[in-house]
Amino acid sequence: MNVYDGQRIAAMLTARGYESTEQVADADIIILNTCAVRAKATDKVFSALGRIRAEKKPDALFGIVGCVARESGADAFRRVPELNFVLGPQSYHKLPAILENPETKLLNIDLGGLEKFDELPQMEKSPVIAYIPIQEGCNHCCTYCIVPYTRGRELSRPFNDVMRDTEHAANTGAVEICFLGQNVNGYKYTDADGTVYRLSDLIAATAKLDAVKRIRFTSSYPTEMTDDLIDMFRTEPKLLPFLNLPIQSGSPDVLTRMNRPYSLNLYIDIVDKLKHARPDIQISSDFIVGFPGETDADFEQTMKIAQRVKYINSYSFKYSPRPHTAAALMPNQIPESVKSARLAKLDAYLNELQRDFNLSCVGKTMPCLYEGPDKTGRHLVYRTPYMQPCIVDAKSDNAPIMAEIEITDANKASLRGKLK
Ligand code: SF4
Repeated sequence: MNVYDGQRIAAMLTARGYESTEQVADADIIILNTCAVRAKATDKVFSALGRIRAEKKPDALFGIVGCVARESGADAFRRVPELNFVLGPQSYHKLPAILENPETKLLNIDLGGLEKFDELPQMEKSPVIAYIPIQEGCNHCCTYCIVPYTRGRELSRPFNDVMRDTEHAANTGAVEICFLGQNVNGYKYTDADGTVYRLSDLIAATAKLDAVKRIRFTSSYPTEMTDDLIDMFRTEPKLLPFLNLPIQSGSPDVLTRMNRPYSLNLYIDIVDKLKHARPDIQISSDFIVGFPGETDADFEQTMKIAQRVKYINSYSFKYSPRPHTAAALMPNQIPESVKSARLAKLDAYLNELQRDFNLSCVGKTMPCLYEGPDKTGRHLVYRTPYMQPCIVDAKSDNAPIMAEIEITDANKASLRGKLK
């Protein structure tokens, strides 16, 4: 979501004649687009602000947008008095006001809804992978999560607006469409005639666009995985056979305290239905270890669910108390040393699963999307349908955007392959 927000801000600045620079000392405007999901991310923002204020030109405009802006509000000006603006994730479209009145300080952390999507210009040329937000905010209120505070209640964008943005992306270079939302599979929009649109309708309409070859969506909530959506994996070949379906914990007790009220049986049923619909599908998950009150036995249940589902490409984190969340006030917070030991154990196992899956791909041929040259400039990097990076020995001139690639080798982190 932050990548998308950053692209819209860049499009607005480009339309006003700004160019990008890598050098803080050369910049006329510096914007940190921020994430508050973990305490470490917020801390990094304030240490970056300290570095930037020492390096920037004295008259350069300087500010933060996104979830840390919403979390910190006016306190950000107290901590960093040089800041010119602090704009929340639903108010960054107010940035032009500070360009027009650079002498003022601008604070806007309102939860304004969906206006931002219409008020900033579209990018003239889309990246090959276009992120299209279809929904903002979240109603689930997981007890550890700051998102309902920073991004507000869940709002689904009008179907026609989403399709307008998708068609624009497809007409200007997008080959892969990634629909975005904090609770993306809960997308539900009812138009003036009472017609209800779901994520499956967006996928079906997008698949009809010739320029679009791949479709995916993130991030999903288990109980919103409705049958119409599961069926899309059976009927729509452009929908990638890869889904992030966060379980967070394998312990029913921990899930209850997280306010994620689904049973493990229900979750497994959904995974089984997905595998039935698309036998080659792979699932990834997000995990939180060391949630308040998590016992060794709870943690072992998380290891067990990872063994049962055989996740690939997952994200695991130590629980991080966030302001404005219920879990931060819960008793039985877990010591850092215990969290670290559990995370190391889970990560080691998830890495093993990833390596096994990567090795199982050797000898297969897959349709892959060209991402660009690697750091050395001597190889090409493609993305498989499971989002694994695949390194190909070839020159970047005339690299096909979509290519059939035979996988010849693999390790935990990446694949190697050759163009067919
Ligand atoms: S579903 Fe996701 S975004 Fe919503 S509250 Fe839970 S963790 Fe946060």
